[in-house]
Order: sequence, then structure tokens, then C-alpha cells
Amino acid sequence: MLKISEIFYSIQGESTYAGLPCIFIRLAGCNLRCNYCDTNYSYKSDITFSTNEIINKVKEYNPVKLIEITGGEPLLQSEVYKLFDSLHKDGYTVLLETNGSILLKDIPEYVIKIVDVKCLGSGEENSFLIENLEYIKIENDQIKFVLTDNFDYNWAKDFIMKYKLSNYEILFSPVTDTLNPQDLAKWLIEDKLDVRLQLQLHKIIWDKDKRGV
Ligand code: SF4
Repeated sequence: MLKISEIFYSIQGESTYAGLPCIFIRLAGCNLRCNYCDTNYSYKSDITFSTNEIINKVKEYNPVKLIEITGGEPLLQSEVYKLFDSLHKDGYTVLLETNGSILLKDIPEYVIKIVDVKCLGSGEENSFLIENLEYIKIENDQIKFVLTDNFDYNWAKDFIMKYKLSNYEILFSPVTDTLNPQDLAKWLIEDKLDVRLQLQLHKIIWDKDKRGV
């Protein structure tokens, strides 16, 4: 059984898949406590679903075939691997949002990983497992830096240089309460940095605190 925070259908708000119809499965529980966390309601949940129950639920959204498994931190629950397998067998494209602190070694090839590297402003800047860089694939996967200010921006830039990540799909996502996207855009243009500025589309379309979108 998997502890679930919510399952819903909406528009993907992040990553290179932003703008596409997508089903979200939010698993409950997280091992981190980022300062800017906008899903702290997912830390605990008493709702449990079997893999079959989840598959039946997501079928309600046919013909949508894009699914994101997110959290919380989905990799804290080992049964998530069974869910990957079932969704894949049913023809879904599976995106996984993970916070970078859990080993990615056993994630199946077909899962598209969107992996956070936590910057200083998160308060969890030492959480990223460096060995995970071995398992993030240039062709499919994405690395996300959530930025709270200019310190985070420079920290992320240094991280990309230090670990030679410039060939990867890199997302820079501002916490808009503390970092104006215009400032971030200006720095990216000045530095000619080859990364993707990402705004959380769902927070622009709907109220920024609205759940289930
Ligand atoms: S990893 Fe994600 S869910 Fe966990 S505390 Fe940080 S922002 Fe929140």
C-alpha cells in the first residue's frame, strides 16, 4: 500500500513538459523540510491506496497518458517501484519529481526523472547525493534548482560548473515571493547561461495556494 496525499488531473506546471495535460500522484511523507515548501500538507496522510486502486483511479482520466509521481518525496516508499512498473505496462509516460537526497540507482530506464539540487535558501543545501549524478541521464532527465535569491543563483551556477552539468537539461525556478523572475532573467541573459528559466505555470493560472491544480 502507498500513502497518498492526493491524485488529480491538471496542466503540468513545471519542467520541459509544462503546459501539457498531466495526472499527478502525490505521495505522502518527506525527509526534508525546505524553507519554501509549498506542499507541507503532504508530509502526513492516512489515505492509503494499493497499486491497483491507483491504476483504476488514473484510468478515470483517460485518454491522458502523462503522469507525474511527486510528493513529498516519493522514493521514501519502496512500493513506488511497483507503481512505476504498472503505469509503464499500461502505456503511461512516467515523470518522477524527487528531491535529490535518495539514491536513484534503481529507478527504471523508462522513468523520466526531474531531480532537485537544493540550494542554500532551502535550508537543505547538503541534501543532494552527489553519486546521483551518475544516474541522471542527459537525454531524458532534468535537474532543477529552486532559487530564493542571488546567493542561490551563484551557488547553482558554481554547482553546474563544478560538476560539469552544462550538457544537462537544467531548470532554474525562482521562489517568486523572494526572487523576482525579472531579476533572474536579467542575470541569465547577462551570464549567457544555457539553462531554462521555469515559472510554476499552475501558480500563474490559478491562485498560488490552490491545491489539486
Ligand atoms: S523536498 Fe519538496 S516536499 Fe520535501 S520539504 Fe522540500 S519542497 Fe517540500
